[in-house]
Amino acid sequence: MEQVFAPLPPVPDHPRLEEEILQWWEDEQVFQQLRDLNRGGPKWSFIDGPVTANKTLGVHTAWGRTLKDVFQRYKALRGFDQRYQNGFDCQGLWIEVGVERQLGLNSKHEIEDYGLEKFAAKCREVVAWSAAELTRACKRLGQWMDWGNDYFTFSDTNIEYIWRFLKVVDEKGWLFLGHRSTEWCPRCGTSLSQHELSQAGVYQERADPSLFVRFPLLDREREYLVVWTTTPWTLPANVAAAVDPEAEYGRRENGEWVALSRYPDATFDEVLRGEQLVGWRYRGPYDHLPAAEGIEHRVVAWDEVSLEEGTGIVHIAPGAGQEDFDLGRREGLPVLTPVDEAGRFYEDYGWLHGTSTGDAADQIAGDLRERALLVEAGLYEHRYPHCWRCDTPLIWRVADDWFIGVDEVRQPLLDANATVEWTPPHYGKRMDDWLRNMDDWNISRRRFYGLPLPFYPCSCGQLNVIGSKAELEERAVEGIEQLEELHRPWIDRVLIRCESCGESVKRVTEVGDVWLDAGIVPFSTLGWQNPESIEGGYATGASRELSHADLPDHAYWEEWFPADWVSEMREQIRLWFYSLMFMSVALTGRAPYRQVLTFEKLLDAEGREMHGSWGNLIDAEEAFERMGADVMRWLYCQQPTTQNIRFGFAPAEEVKRRLLTLWNSVKFLVDYGNIGDFRPRLDDLEGGPDAELQPLDRWLVARTSQLVADASRAYESFLTVEVVRSFEEFVGDLSNWYIRRSRRRFWDGDEVALRTLWYALVQGVRVVSPVMPFLAEHLWRKLVPDGAESVFLAGWPEERKQDEDLLREIGETRRVVRLGHIARQSAGLKVRQPLRRLVVEGARLSDEHAAEIRDELRVKEVELGPVEATQLRVKPNLPVLGPKLGKELGAVRVALETGEFEELDGGSFRVGEHELGPDEVLVERTGKEGWSVASADGVTVALDTVLDPELELEALVLDLVHLINAMRKEQGLELTDRIRITLPETQKDLLQHEDWIKEETLAVEIDTDGSLSEPQIVKA
Ligand SMILES: [Zn+2]
Ligand SMILES: [Zn+2]
Repeated sequence: MEQVFAPLPPVPDHPRLEEEILQWWEDEQVFQQLRDLNRGGPKWSFIDGPVTANKTLGVHTAWGRTLKDVFQRYKALRGFDQRYQNGFDCQGLWIEVGVERQLGLNSKHEIEDYGLEKFAAKCREVVAWSAAELTRACKRLGQWMDWGNDYFTFSDTNIEYIWRFLKVVDEKGWLFLGHRSTEWCPRCGTSLSQHELSQAGVYQERADPSLFVRFPLLDREREYLVVWTTTPWTLPANVAAAVDPEAEYGRRENGEWVALSRYPDATFDEVLRGEQLVGWRYRGPYDHLPAAEGIEHRVVAWDEVSLEEGTGIVHIAPGAGQEDFDLGRREGLPVLTPVDEAGRFYEDYGWLHGTSTGDAADQIAGDLRERALLVEAGLYEHRYPHCWRCDTPLIWRVADDWFIGVDEVRQPLLDANATVEWTPPHYGKRMDDWLRNMDDWNISRRRFYGLPLPFYPCSCGQLNVIGSKAELEERAVEGIEQLEELHRPWIDRVLIRCESCGESVKRVTEVGDVWLDAGIVPFSTLGWQNPESIEGGYATGASRELSHADLPDHAYWEEWFPADWVSEMREQIRLWFYSLMFMSVALTGRAPYRQVLTFEKLLDAEGREMHGSWGNLIDAEEAFERMGADVMRWLYCQQPTTQNIRFGFAPAEEVKRRLLTLWNSVKFLVDYGNIGDFRPRLDDLEGGPDAELQPLDRWLVARTSQLVADASRAYESFLTVEVVRSFEEFVGDLSNWYIRRSRRRFWDGDEVALRTLWYALVQGVRVVSPVMPFLAEHLWRKLVPDGAESVFLAGWPEERKQDEDLLREIGETRRVVRLGHIARQSAGLKVRQPLRRLVVEGARLSDEHAAEIRDELRVKEVELGPVEATQLRVKPNLPVLGPKLGKELGAVRVALETGEFEELDGGSFRVGEHELGPDEVLVERTGKEGWSVASADGVTVALDTVLDPELELEALVLDLVHLINAMRKEQGLELTDRIRITLPETQKDLLQHEDWIKEETLAVEIDTDGSLSEPQIVKA
């Protein structure tokens, strides 16, 4: 007869199996079928945060991609209609710096020499290459998206939507050109914004020069202020020295003024309060350079002066530091900007002209030493910000940048965030903190291939802001015909008519912050305010031919906005989640998302960051080949998203080992199902097997319902870690309890047992399919030949009411068995040694379960009753009891130590007026001579460890059975094959149990032979 189930190999070959499934999905258009199936169903709106299109897929990016896919698959199984639009981030520093490296260019000048047109073409080429690579790899990971209809942030459509946003912002009066000190990357030649500094890897440990420098006082002969700096290059820009007005300062014998608290062991000739120093004039360290001509240096008061480090006197250079700049404004100090965009000294800095800030450090130290102004020089280790894109240490520079003022929108942002559900919840508070403290948004970057800011300031004073391409065309007076896409250099050649005076005006050359590109997505991709849907309408400008995405109309936006869910790394709180929120609140007054899941960083298996140069970087491609996508996904999903993940091949092997329990259980069903000619019934998946179930079957059915309920709850809370945990426990119960306890029934081809096991396995596979889609699909297709073609077309298993009593009873039984094994182990008794007696205290067990315990623990008798232990020791469980009892903990601990307590039912204890629950105490019981005791959670078992000749003989029989069954396997015998056994004469005693041995080994005959030293078997 034809077998129902195709047989399974002993272990799965994950990568090969996955390739087969991918091909099959493709051939059968399974994803398309799923979308058709759910069309018109309730909507679940997920908006994808764009992945930067300048690289191949790394295992760190695959974590987020996996989480997105898991929840989209789960929602699809529950019938939700979804969009599945993938996004690529395509312009700004990310792309530019990569292309610069490829071309070997090292500065903005070199890019200009290379040619902006060619540079733009190169950027587009990188995006096209990376988008293709990422698409292929994400498909391999199993991510189901509407590939080919992706959004690209560098499309004209996306840029136009940002223009519209900026126009709105301008109309609200929030847009301004600010003259400020900002973080600046000298290599990239641009300012950066506050939120960009919150990205991982920006702050790095580094050693900088530490200089103590004398500033000679002008009105006090041979007296000096001593300042401390770790940025020597800022000294030529010094204009003031700040003191804490409240602190005490003293003059040392050598004439040097410092804060008293910084030099506790020094003696001072004169002591003054800081406020008494204010107004003193001094000679600046570089007064002789042309730049400092006419600058009067003086001491100013500042509350922020640190008395934790340095000398308590702070060197102030408003042109080279943010706090200095702010202080300078308050005090009306002059601003010296010492370095240009590339971080090199301007001409009026004399011999420093052309020197970079880094190279200047040693030269300045040497110069100060020669002029006897250097008190001390050393190195200082600190965390210092670096460019998130090119890793260059940042400097501070004063420049004109475009800002969006945030004060008016701050409260609306906080109100909108209050409507969002964050996972984990405390990150909502972190977003609040950021929103409360963030500064104005610096949106301009002095770069090339980015969002062109549509600002046309006219000499008449009018700032013209263009809100769309149509408006640009309408107002253009020159250059519109050559406009290929909304990027430099083409856009720069378009001049427009000033709306106030009618003169021609040029655009500013700046491009926009990349977070504008990604933040606009809920508007640009959903067709906000777009009058009619345009087929392929998103494939505009640079994204032409890369995407076929439509531009929907406003009605569509109404349907899909706001997003029900978004998910990215935690650092995106200040980045993407923030720019999404900002732009949405500015345009609509509402939050753009309802629920957010954040996750942490990916590290290597040893807990170090992954770096190409450290040789520990794992490429996704390598991971697909060596572990398979399912195993990767399992690694990601078993991880609490609130902790950094440790990713590597050793953890992957561990996962593979654990997944084998599922594989072996399915294989067990397939093998015995085929032997017993078992025919699964699809109806069983609806209400459970409708048959004369034995108690253990009823338990497995209830246990399966429990899994479905637990997993549903976990998915709804976005906790994959709970999905994985409940699934692994379920498979453990199924394999180590149900199958083991029912083995004999399977040997006999018991149909009810087969039906029950089939039901549990199939429901389990369905529940776990979002996490592990390939293996689940493979097993579904093996197990359910007549069902839905794909597990993803079968919907979500129904949640049934569970038999809680039954679950509790078996739970208790299993707990006793576990304790029994512990007691055995601590007495050094192997599992195959039968024993006389087990006493169980504190568990409610029926006779039927007592029989199961006898079997499992190989004891002749299970007795329910008090365990007479010689000694009971109870200690407080400090992490739990400490917070509960507070001051009274000490007294309780003493009472427990001296035995002044009363044991209550259920593992509780009374000490004085306190009742301590089972989880609040640690209980230790030591058994009497000849007994081994174990206890936990109020249940205690005592195992009689005394052996007699009868028990010893039975142990030998069990050893033999074990050996023979291993030999059967080794010889490749089928599960149903009968055998003949020949034993050495020395094992003749074992024949007292001949029938037992025959039954356990499927032997038809047992002989002895004096010439043998080991047992032998042959097929009968
Ligand atoms: Zn940089
Ligand atoms: Zn004008």
